[in-house]
Amino acid sequence: MRPPLDVLVVGAGPGGLATAIKLKRLADEAGQELSMAVIDKAPQPGYHNLSGAVVDPRPLDELTPAWREHRLLAKRISAVEQDDMFFLLGSRAIKIPELVAPSAMDHSDDVVVSISRLVGYLATVAEDAGIEVYSGFSARELILEGGRVQGVRLGEVGLDADGGHMPNYRPAEEIRARVTVLADGTCGVLSEQLREHYGAGVNPQAYSLGVKAVMQFKDEHPFGAGRVAHFLGYPLPQDVFGGCFMYAMDAKTVAVGLIMALDWKYGDLNPQVEFERFRAHPFVAQQLSGGVTIASGARTIPEGGYYAIGKINVPGALVVGDGAGASKLSKAEANGTPIVPAEKFEALLVDPATVVAELSEVGQ
Ligand SMILES: Cc1cc2nc3c(=O)[nH]c(=O)nc-3n(C[C@H](O)[C@H](O)[C@H](O)COP(=O)(O)OP(=O)(O)OC[C@H]3O[C@@H](n4cnc5c(N)ncnc54)[C@H](O)[C@@H]3O)c2cc1C
Repeated sequence: MRPPLDVLVVGAGPGGLATAIKLKRLADEAGQELSMAVIDKAPQPGYHNLSGAVVDPRPLDELTPAWREHRLLAKRISAVEQDDMFFLLGSRAIKIPELVAPSAMDHSDDVVVSISRLVGYLATVAEDAGIEVYSGFSARELILEGGRVQGVRLGEVGLDADGGHMPNYRPAEEIRARVTVLADGTCGVLSEQLREHYGAGVNPQAYSLGVKAVMQFKDEHPFGAGRVAHFLGYPLPQDVFGGCFMYAMDAKTVAVGLIMALDWKYGDLNPQVEFERFRAHPFVAQQLSGGVTIASGARTIPEGGYYAIGKINVPGALVVGDGAGASKLSKAEANGTPIVPAEKFEALLVDPATVVAELSEVGQ
């Protein structure tokens, strides 16, 4: 059996890869040699991420200063030059003056980037740093032994519809590690298991559902390069918390989406239908005219805030990113009302230095 890894990261999203890279760097600086691996169930890094996000570039500049020049990202990063907020009322779009728009929604120093490409790039940075990155490996459960998390058990691969073994059958394997980092995203199976075992937050987690599409245009789109816009009002009913967005990824590509809190009381309210109603609004349709959808997807966003975060640092494991429910609500999209100040979240996020320290304490 393979000896336990020093660190296993489950989930190669932005959270898992950034943690792995930072941790490896800290260990290198401390002269500590770590065996590290990141596994993800996606067929390739970035394939389970929805493209087109507006992000604060500062953490990336700090983590990997050359990111803007890499071949996967160069010419694909669009600095925000125009940041608008509209209220959609009937067939009209009323521009909300900058002075009264929430400051947390100010994206003037941010950039629009394809998250899937960014994740692909971060995977190359991790590999260059000596971290093993494996795609197509799905972790099914935590190994809990001796009061610690000891790693994960993978699912069986190659079963037919009746549960019989196909030629590519692979039995459920175990990957053991001294520290397991769970970065399995929103509603992640393993971070849920950890919460069930060690304790959830004071409040139950609350979620929004996001529907997103990337639209491509033959010529320059009417929306305009370097522009992001957020929309309140139509098509959502007054008592449904949420909104819509459009981000220009470049002169010929726009990411467009709708986010709505998952606590609506209407049995016939369908996020995809609401999203299509948004795209059909006269003002929006004009901005998107001539575009075709080339990619789309939907997923949840944790937004329960500080009191919905359970144990995220337990013996042998920690949880990071959306799996921890530690979305920075002040920067969450259209529906972002901060429940607690951002600094509190910063304090909550586990500093990789504590992992390096824990590894030295546990010994070889
Ligand atoms: C519609 C929408 C719009 C958004 N827009 C923005 C935006 O503009 N700006 C912004 O900053 N954020 C945005 N977000 C949020 C952002 O996408 C997430 O916060 C971010 O992706 C979280 O990163 P993560 O690494 O924690 O999780 P994820 O990106 O979800 O990555 C988790 C990874 O874990 C893998 N995984 C899960 N379970 C397992 C398992 N059992 N075994 C192996 N692998 C597993 C998955 O395949 C995935 O690759 C948006 C989200 C949505 C839904």
